[in-house]
Amino acid sequence: MEKRVFNFSPGPAMLPLPALEEAQRDLLALPGTGMSILEISHRSAKFLEIIEGAESNLRKLLGIPEDYHVLFLQGGARLQFAMVAMNLLHGTGRSADYILTGTWAKTAMNEAKSQGGIRVAWDGTSLNYTRMPRQEELHLDPNAVYLHMTSNETIQGIQFSTEPDPGQVPLVCDASSDFLCRPLDIRKYGILYACAQKNAGPAGVTIVIIRKDLAERSPADLPSMLSYKVLAEAKSLHNTPPCFCVYMVKLVTDWLLQTVGGLEKMEALNRQKAALLYEAIDRCGGFYQGHAAPESRSMMNVTFRLPTAELESAFLQEAKKRDLVELKGHRSVGGCRASIYNAMPLEGVQRLRDCMLEFYEKHSR
Ligand SMILES: *Cc1c(COP(=O)(O)O)cnc(C)c1O
Repeated sequence: MEKRVFNFSPGPAMLPLPALEEAQRDLLALPGTGMSILEISHRSAKFLEIIEGAESNLRKLLGIPEDYHVLFLQGGARLQFAMVAMNLLHGTGRSADYILTGTWAKTAMNEAKSQGGIRVAWDGTSLNYTRMPRQEELHLDPNAVYLHMTSNETIQGIQFSTEPDPGQVPLVCDASSDFLCRPLDIRKYGILYACAQKNAGPAGVTIVIIRKDLAERSPADLPSMLSYKVLAEAKSLHNTPPCFCVYMVKLVTDWLLQTVGGLEKMEALNRQKAALLYEAIDRCGGFYQGHAAPESRSMMNVTFRLPTAELESAFLQEAKKRDLVELKGHRSVGGCRASIYNAMPLEGVQRLRDCMLEFYEKHSR
């Protein structure tokens, strides 16, 4: 087999090796069927077992109550930017609040604009999106249809430590890049959505956890594929779902439950991994400039710059020699970004930390 490297890509990202191995082992024939997951009907008993298994794993991991649907949809997180507004905002004559914390929050807001009124509850633009807001900084409209937040800004590398309090307004969260990184109280959310390719599976499926009463609000004239109500009533089988992706989410959540031992354990490991890199940043006296303010540092995406563009490219080359790849930052922020999602092993982060410390020793004088 070709050697595997430590892949720090922001997404699609590393998957847990046991999940990949199980998929590889069973690719030609799922046990008991003689058919590949790539070949079976989405109406077959075996696939229903898989999709129900993925849902039940998610319900266990996050403690999702009965009055929430768990949907497996297509179109990525980006389609949710529009769907949330089409289903909840359109035609209400009211507006929705958005917390502008970074590139993704802004994209979500712009996508919703065509569907109704938008208010900005807080704007981090002038801070260059270096931190999340504090509760008292939010200008919340008590009559908003919903409050939209982005729990982790993948590009800037900042993360909410706890949810903002939306009052009586339903909280809608884009959790694409920190889904399943820690336990959550789902009851605080009206809708929580996440594309799979950061922390939950491969690209091609988006998980939408939606309170059942909100899914009832979908306007009747929406195209069926955009209606939460239709998709929920069909249990994500209104059309052919991305069967392989759902299968992979099942295997990744099996890994979280059985090998990792749940989200408390996952969070402890994620905190340990993130601390290794932030300690290295702090220890090198300004050589590495973290983008995030310390109180908003992301556990998932660690963003930093080096003193010059030349040093940055030399650092990326040195890292690559050590099989540490995909560390270049997003073009809009520059610098470096280490995405250390659930599946990134501690060993990969330790190796990156060592690379950072040794590179600093060599180039700081
Ligand atoms: C990756 C990402 C998206 C975009 O997801 P797609 O599946 O490409 O639409 C949206 N929001 C956040 C926070 C992300 O990290």
